[in-house]
Amino acid sequence: MKIIDIIKADKPSLSFEVFPPKTSDSFETVKDATEKIASLKPSFMSVTYGAGGGTSEYTVALAEDIKKSFGVESLAHLTCINSTKEDIQSRLMKLKEAGIENILALRGDITPENKDKIKFDYKYASELVEDIKRFGDFCIGGACYPEIHPESASQQDDIENLKAKVDAGCEFLTTQMFFDNNILYNYLYKIREAGITVPIVAGIMPVTNANQIKRIMSLSGTYLPQRFKTIVDRFGYNPEVMAQAGVAYATEQIIDLFANGINAVHVYSMNKPHIAAKIQENISEILK
Ligand code: FAD
Repeated sequence: MKIIDIIKADKPSLSFEVFPPKTSDSFETVKDATEKIASLKPSFMSVTYGAGGGTSEYTVALAEDIKKSFGVESLAHLTCINSTKEDIQSRLMKLKEAGIENILALRGDITPENKDKIKFDYKYASELVEDIKRFGDFCIGGACYPEIHPESASQQDDIENLKAKVDAGCEFLTTQMFFDNNILYNYLYKIREAGITVPIVAGIMPVTNANQIKRIMSLSGTYLPQRFKTIVDRFGYNPEVMAQAGVAYATEQIIDLFANGINAVHVYSMNKPHIAAKIQENISEILK
């Protein structure tokens, strides 16, 4: 099934993200966590992709397992920064053979580790979107940034580039995480004004430990409301307490999103089945 049909339906959708292991040693552990999350029967699940390409086989294997063993629709992420055109054609073929129908098309981050290995067949995700569209068969999603992509000079530039990506063939957009819903509501107003009309899937990260939030801040510069910082300062010392508070905060954000007309929420569940289960249970009546 195409994810666009799930998120365009009247019913609110709740989906979860998992990430593949970096080495084969931990594959079974990740597979087990993925299967526990899939058994919750979310609206769909996404599987991330290592921009270096090292985990590409695991992305396909997990996305295939989610779909075939659990009947849950899967969304395979695919990055292009380290790939040649031939690499991408062969990955698309593998995804098609595995029965995957949905791809989140991404550029991938330029990091100190990969910057010397970058192949320049693809500069931006929009070029990957064009190639996937030409290949056919897939429903294509892309990423968007309510707080601006860090490389963009201005929000206007970022939104113009986003419009080009959508025009290239993106059928929906998943947002970077945010902790203040007003940031999303303002962003939605601006992208709609710019003529971007595709459905938006709101990405929500339940923060379950204080180190995680420090990492997020240093990587993405995401704005943290004072109310959220107070929770982390007060409860971050204890993982169990922080997990409970983080799930409660994410639940409140999700309820507010649904109440304000956002129909699709994607939870960055970090391979933690108990966190995914708790959030789903907290909003079970809304999802009916
Ligand atoms: P793009 O859409 O190409 O945008 C990157 C930058 O280039 C932006 O600043 C944009 O404004 C600018 N730009 C775009 N087109 C042009 C143009 N024509 N001219 C000038 N500037 C332009 N990373 C992974 O490695 N694996 C994953 O699985 C993964 N999943 C993700 C899922 C989500 C929902 C999100 C939000 C991010 C994810 N990422 C993942 C991270 C992502 O790869 C990085 O944020 C990356 O830096 C940008 O990717 P993009 O696809 O948004 O790039």
